[in-house]
Amino acid sequence: MRKFLSVLILSLSFVAVLQAAPAGGAIRCGKLLDVRSGKLLENQLISFDANGTITSVASVGSTLPQGAIDLSRATCLPGLIDVHTHITGDPSDSGYQGLGTSIPRSAVKGAKNARLTLLAGFTTVRNVGADGFADVAVRDGINNGEIPGPRMFVSGPALGITGGHCDDNLLPFEYHHVSNGVADGPWAARAKVREVIKYGADVIKICASGGVLSKGDQPGTPQYTPEEMQAIAEEAHKLGRKVAAHAHGTQSIKDAIRAGIDSIEHSSLIDDEGIALAKQRGTYLVFDIYNDDFILQEGEKAGMLPESIEKEKKLGRLQRENFRKAFQAGAKIAFGTDAGVYPHGDNAKQFAKMVEWGMKPLDAIQAATINAADLIGLSGKAGSVESGCYADIIAVDGNPLENVPVLEKVKFVMKGGVIARNDFASK
Ligand SMILES: [Zn+2]
Repeated sequence: MRKFLSVLILSLSFVAVLQAAPAGGAIRCGKLLDVRSGKLLENQLISFDANGTITSVASVGSTLPQGAIDLSRATCLPGLIDVHTHITGDPSDSGYQGLGTSIPRSAVKGAKNARLTLLAGFTTVRNVGADGFADVAVRDGINNGEIPGPRMFVSGPALGITGGHCDDNLLPFEYHHVSNGVADGPWAARAKVREVIKYGADVIKICASGGVLSKGDQPGTPQYTPEEMQAIAEEAHKLGRKVAAHAHGTQSIKDAIRAGIDSIEHSSLIDDEGIALAKQRGTYLVFDIYNDDFILQEGEKAGMLPESIEKEKKLGRLQRENFRKAFQAGAKIAFGTDAGVYPHGDNAKQFAKMVEWGMKPLDAIQAATINAADLIGLSGKAGSVESGCYADIIAVDGNPLENVPVLEKVKFVMKGGVIARNDFASK
């Protein structure tokens, strides 16, 4: 019966998720986390209008507005943000298995994963890398109210060198298989920036160094040259887009920061000079420190190449140590997980890892709210519960400042004033 009920509630929440237009209303929160100050405010009333924008946040008065959503037993927070997802892929698309997944099929997977991500409390994501612009299709479907999902900021195909991490090196020469984002040389790279923007990119993703899940390259070795990255950053910024650079390698991280790249993804082998440069330039560092566990435990089953698992064994611990170092040195850190390498919807599992490796729960929550919003360019719109922000609100049982894994069990999700899930109403 319990099972039946939860299935029923899930299907009801699915219906709610598809309700595109908010009606305006209010939420009463027993506690509300102010992510800027770290204070837990008691008995707050969040009001929002028919555009799904918060109009006021205040102490609950003597009378509650009619129809207010009662979360008086819960702790409310702003909707979470993951700045590094691969929403159109699943772990089972790793290695040679992925060659059997068509672009249309990956868009369908994206629709499935967008819903899982939203129900897990992530109301905004930045998707970094999708061949065939499948992520543009998912974003547009969500924005048009056709499928449930988070606000998406997408890159389309990731730019990279021939034979690099952002190319696909699985097939021999006679197949002439080249990934959509391959561009060699500063002018070809500039043209590729223009091309991905033409087809819908909100952000530019590039591969500055080798990677873990690619064939025949090494995470520590540089791929794009400083000249190529300068051209990309200049072109992207001119056209109003930020650039996210995949960079594990010590040199590539520094080259990318000096070239004016806006965020360094993975950041695994960053050294003291790289950390100092990131601080000086205000470059965000994104460390995906949860997925190492998944790759080592489940990677082989998911079809990841033996060489990928070997690379991860060498890199995982160093990345976590460097995460701690960069955080303690005061570098700006945004929450990004590489979802898709591990199953979508488990994004919040990274919070506990960040706390295990040196952050306080509030620091980790700030990385996934105000910092992530700042990196995407959404400060004052997302990542906090304040007047003028989207009504993107989640709620949990318990206190995430004392017990951060409660964020893995989000029970209420609202995006832009529309409820995607409310497990509190069912009790
Ligand atoms: Zn990635």
